[in-house]
Formats: sequence, C-alpha cells, structure tokens
Amino acid sequence: MTLAEAQRRDAADPLRHFRTAFALPDSIVYLDGNSLGALPNRTAARLADTAAREWGDGLVRSWNSNDWIAAPRRVGDKIAPLIGAQPGEVIVADSTSVNTYKLLAAALAARPGRTVIVSEPGNFPTDVYMAQGLKLLRPDIELRLVPRADIDSALDDNVAVLLLTHVHYKTAEMFDMVGLTAKAHTAGAFTLWDLSHSAGAVCVDLNAANADLAVGCGYKYLNGGPGAPAFLFVAERHQAALHSPLTGWMGHAAPFGFADAYAPAPGIDRFLCGTPPILGLAALEEGVDLMRGADFDALLTKSRALSSYFIDLVETRCPLPLVSPRDAAERGSHISLRHEHGYPVMQALIERGIIGDFRAPDLLRFGFAPLYNSFEDVWHAVGALTDILDVGAWREDRYAVRTRVT
Ligand SMILES: *Cc1c(COP(=O)(O)O)cnc(C)c1O
Repeated sequence: MTLAEAQRRDAADPLRHFRTAFALPDSIVYLDGNSLGALPNRTAARLADTAAREWGDGLVRSWNSNDWIAAPRRVGDKIAPLIGAQPGEVIVADSTSVNTYKLLAAALAARPGRTVIVSEPGNFPTDVYMAQGLKLLRPDIELRLVPRADIDSALDDNVAVLLLTHVHYKTAEMFDMVGLTAKAHTAGAFTLWDLSHSAGAVCVDLNAANADLAVGCGYKYLNGGPGAPAFLFVAERHQAALHSPLTGWMGHAAPFGFADAYAPAPGIDRFLCGTPPILGLAALEEGVDLMRGADFDALLTKSRALSSYFIDLVETRCPLPLVSPRDAAERGSHISLRHEHGYPVMQALIERGIIGDFRAPDLLRFGFAPLYNSFEDVWHAVGALTDILDVGAWREDRYAVRTRVT
C-alpha cells in the first residue's frame, strides 16, 4: 500500500472535481464532514447576495419577490430524491431535535390507545431526550429502550412508533430499514428514522422501504453550514392524518388570513412552525444543489471505498480495535476506532491538520465525505495516526486539555 496507489485511485475517481467546489484549506485533511460539512465555495457569495440584495434592498418584499416563503418546500423537494422521497413529502424546518419531537407527538396522537415509543439505548442523545421531554406532557408514554437484537420482540400492540437512527453516530452500524419498517407495520406502529448520518452518504430509499416518517440534519453530509435548518419527511399517505404539536402560524392553512382558530395546512406544510430561517435555507440550498450535481451511485460507491481503504490501512499500519462493521454494506460513511486515550490522540491529530472527532468515552471517529475527501486524505490520516501512536506523541500535556465541543 503506497501513496502512489492512493493517488492512482484519486485520478480514477469520477467525483474528483468536486473537491475544488469547496473552500477547504490545503493544509487540512478534513474527516469530520459527518459532524459539520465543509463550506461550498458558492455559499459565501449566496449568503452575501441573500443578505445585501434580497434583504438589504428587497426588504420585506423578498418574501414574495425572491420567493422566500417557498424556500422550505423548495429545498425539501431538492432533498427528496437524495432520500427516496417524492416532491411534497419533505420540508425544511427547525432542528432535527425539534422535528423529532413534532413527529413523535404526531405519531402517538395518530395511534390512540398505544403509548409506547421503542428505541435503542445509546441512540443519539437528542432523540432519546426529546422522547423523554414528550413524556413530561404525556406521562402515559412509555419509552422502551431495547438493544437492537431485541427490537423485533419489543414491537407489541402497544407500540405507537419505532424511533431509530439509521446509521449509528458512534459505530456507523446501519439498520435494515426495509426489514424493520415491515416489522413495525406488522405490529401496527409507525417508523421514525433519523437520517442525520445517512442523507448524502448512504443509499436511503424511504418510499421503497415504505417508511412513514423521517428527520435529518442539514449541516452534516448536506453541507448546509453550522446550525443549518433540518428536514423532515412524512409519507404522503399519512399527511392528512398527522398533526404537528407545534401549531405555529407557518403551518396554518392560511397564515396571512390571521384567523384566531388554528387550521392545519394541507400536506407537508403543516409541519412548519415559525418563520423560516432564510439565511440558513439559502446556505443549505447551495449545499444540496452541489450534491445534486453529483452522480449518486458514484457518491455511494466512493463513500464505501474511502472507508474500506481506511480500514485496510489501519489494519496494516496501526491496528486499533475497529468499532464499525467491516462489511461496507452494513455501515454508514464513518469509521470509529477504539483507543483508551482517544481524546488526546485526536487532539494530536488535529494539531497535525487531520481533523476527525472524539466520542466519549474512547472513540476516534473519522467521517468520509465522498464529495470532497480523497484517497490521499485517507493515506495521510492513517500515516499521522500511526506516527502519533508509534512515538506516543499524544502523551503531551496540552492534548489532555478538554474543550466544550469534542
Ligand atoms: C447530529 C445529529 C442530530 C442533531 O440534532 P440537532 O437538533 O441538529 O442538534 C440529531 N440526530 C442525530 C442522529 C445526529 O447525528
């Protein structure tokens, strides 16, 4: 395994030209696009234009003249094909956390008599926290956290919704969306899939899986920028029967009718709450447009190839325990390795310009974004990791200093 081989693979990569569409510093190997995606070059200009021309000159007229009001639907429709949804089934709104709350509450209300949410222990914290918060309003709810091997048997006729993160944020293990959705349906429950680590990185086909509900992040593989608004999906067949618990005016059938009585908009629009964040939507639209310009099969193939290459190099050069599935078909686009001193090891890597992240208590996590990562990136990352471990460079005191965000 040589650098020349990595470079040969890059030269044969049909997506290689996308890297120059991002403002990535040359001195950095960025393997954290699963936490915060990189900045597309066009985004800065788009934001400047949205601020100066649309806001500065257009002022309030821009809700109509620049069609700000349609942005949540427009960008949702652009995300739809990336996750196997139809136009009108996806809308951009709020955060993933808030969308999870809205859809959990909607699913529970639509299954009267059923009070159980099934999820797994160790699911992404916000998913579990939002379910716990819902229980404050509805103390009758039971949050049943069961290990993934037992989910099947936990699906009884009391279950209203199965809430799972499709690709696990730590291990990258991927659930069988088709199989579990079918099992949930047999039990009469909805499925709510969190696609935060899936959208733009792995094959997601919500409609082929007959999925009911989904949420996901705009700022990870979709490159929408820090705190980008999130998306949510409600299958068309459910839209008329499901109701958001956050009945803000933007989800009203006629927001500018200013009636006292709430009446939900028909279709996916009812899952809006307040005024859409136009600057955030503009940045997200650039990220999504860029991804839509890429061949999706090539994207998925490259995601698997990069992470597999990383595993191969790690195993030959610095064998650390692999926490992610070895079989690329069973995982997302990131790889986690275990190291007792994972935090200082990651700090030492970051100081050398290799940016991944640390997930407590002992995981080194490396995300591979097929639009802008290269095989050479992977080569350099494993080289630096090998070096740091060989000489024990991570033992220096400064690497032990903990920051608020890891
Ligand atoms: C990143 C992530 C989130 C983030 O939710 P926010 O509301 O945007 O903070 C939610 N779920 C999963 C699985 C994630 O990985």
